[in-house]
Amino acid sequence: MVVAVPQDCADLCALREHMGDCHRCALAATRTRLVFGSGDPHARLMFVGEAPGKNEDLTGEPFVGAAGKLLDELLESIGLARAQVFIANMVKCRPPGNRDPEESEIDICSPFLARQIELVDPVVIATLGRFATHYVLHTTVPITALRGRLYRVGDRRVVPVFHPAAALYDQSKRGVLQDDFRRLRAVLDRADDGERAASDGPAQLVLFDGDPS
Ligand code: SF4
Repeated sequence: MVVAVPQDCADLCALREHMGDCHRCALAATRTRLVFGSGDPHARLMFVGEAPGKNEDLTGEPFVGAAGKLLDELLESIGLARAQVFIANMVKCRPPGNRDPEESEIDICSPFLARQIELVDPVVIATLGRFATHYVLHTTVPITALRGRLYRVGDRRVVPVFHPAAALYDQSKRGVLQDDFRRLRAVLDRADDGERAASDGPAQLVLFDGDPS
């Protein structure tokens, strides 16, 4: 089943309205609240995560709880507040027991994310973790080989980073995440609104030159 998102969903509010009390995939049966995403509807930086967890399911907001707190700290470390970015997940409803989303669930739900990206129209996308990175870059290369580099997809810059939740359980990833956020800041600083790459087709690896500090 492929969900077609009508083009008359001209803004995020209309898209949310179109989704309604979505039951297009099996995750609807076990969710508490659909987590659409939040933030600046015209953010230059958009984060794409995997799926809501327990706290997100209860509140309807993305990235709350410990992983959300860490994300806020990382944002603050590069001079950004959450209200200045947009955050959305690949699937909008919590997989039971925080299991990985299934391919069929991603296939059904991801057109909503694709439309969110079109509507927010960010200059830079930061993908949080394996699922989001694989979706945005159209690859199955392990996240450990992808993070720390800058990619271009169409006219957007894409920066894969570890999912903040991974750093909660593995302290060694916290320093890596901090480095990656410094790189993210540098990418954002260099990306002028008017300066868009004119590339189409598959994701391209571009240079990530210089020290992130
Ligand atoms: S995960 Fe997506 S497609 Fe599935 S019920 Fe939730 S909003 Fe609908």
